[in-house]
Amino acid sequence: MTDRKSDSDSTFGLNNGMDTDNDADPNSISIEKAQRIIASTVPRVSETEELSIERALGRVLSEDMLAPIDVPSFRASAMDGYAFRFAERENALRISENSLAGHPSNDSANANECHRITTGARVPDFADTVVQQENVVLNDKLITITKQPPMGHHVRAIGSNSEKGTLLMQKGQRLGAAQIASLCAQGIQSVPVLRKIQVAMFSTGDELVNGGRVLSPGNIYDANRALLSSLLDSPGIEVIDVGIVDDSVDALQNAMQQCANADIVLSSGGVSVGDADFVRPVLEQLGQLHIWKIAIKPGRPLTFGMLGKQQPYFGLPGNPVSAAITCLFFVKPAIKAMLGEPINTMPRVHATLQTSLKKLPGRVEYQRGILKMSEAGEWQVSTTGMQDSHVVTSLHRANCFIELAFDSTGFEEGDQVTIIPFSHFSDNLL
Ligand code: AMP
Ligand code: MG
Repeated sequence: MTDRKSDSDSTFGLNNGMDTDNDADPNSISIEKAQRIIASTVPRVSETEELSIERALGRVLSEDMLAPIDVPSFRASAMDGYAFRFAERENALRISENSLAGHPSNDSANANECHRITTGARVPDFADTVVQQENVVLNDKLITITKQPPMGHHVRAIGSNSEKGTLLMQKGQRLGAAQIASLCAQGIQSVPVLRKIQVAMFSTGDELVNGGRVLSPGNIYDANRALLSSLLDSPGIEVIDVGIVDDSVDALQNAMQQCANADIVLSSGGVSVGDADFVRPVLEQLGQLHIWKIAIKPGRPLTFGMLGKQQPYFGLPGNPVSAAITCLFFVKPAIKAMLGEPINTMPRVHATLQTSLKKLPGRVEYQRGILKMSEAGEWQVSTTGMQDSHVVTSLHRANCFIELAFDSTGFEEGDQVTIIPFSHFSDNLL
């Protein structure tokens, strides 16, 4: 029992054989540089398919979309009320017809007549303005306007949502709920999208077993394949699970060759400098290494390269928190780059720290936090506790990352810190 928390010191980099005041590694590159290298190295997908709009959620447009019609295609009322001539606004107006949504009235009316109209109904040609029903007094079939609207009020102009022939959406746009709605409003029934990306994935480690088996001494259950396929789950991604692979050069070579038809290959574990860490040498043998070591914590030994000419390979670190963070910060942006999606800087918020946080300078660190709003309307963040990268509970209890800058030496309670809410990693637009 006594050694249960024995590696908590590694939270602060004290047990990794490095300088105890500094966690920097001269061989590691910055997160931004790594992301730039990855984005410029991965191949772009060009094959497309035509999908019905019902099946297009989460896919990426392969062509610009022009608006085929004006929306709205007629002048529509924005209110329940009365359509009338602005010039007759001071007169008592007789209601001569009803224009209901889907049931337009005739276009003409005699002098001092108006049409009753509902929201979304066509505004008849004779009328130039709509007054909402709350601003009139109704007496039998006559209305008197009690609060004058400006000329043209509550009349939605033709094409005010989107004009026929103009650019509605650009290629590279991921289709979320709002984009699907906009396309449907144009009557578009099918869209050209980039084909799905196939991601092959395996875990490495002689200690790993699948759930459902009794653990032998020294074994642990594999958390990473489920973790990574869950993080990547998206309609445009097909994950191919290659299973658990032994810590040997032969087994790794076989696994990498088994993934030959995938667009991108992920593994976890075996990327450090231990006696059983063979991923890097095997990648160098079968392809080309581009990145090893990024100044990020957790996740420093992330290994990135190309198998053959066309196949990006990510060797993620084995500890689940490291695997999650490197997947979010490097693998997901790589897939976006392959699909030609713009990679935007993630929005950050600031929050008041509820406890102190320790850190050594030399890496950007992503501690796991719980963000909430105080009754006074202030964002507050507390830590999920022990931050070692094997502590999956530090991730599952969290709803945000606390981003601690490269040079930071920690923070005190009450300090403002930078936060990335987990919701920012979700691709379900809107
Ligand atoms: P490695 O990078 O292979 O040295 O692994 C680092 C740590 O992560 C070790 O404690 C491994 O047992 C652990 N680990 C590696 N792969 C997994 C996995 N798939 N699920 C859970 N823990 C893992
Ligand atoms: Mg291992």
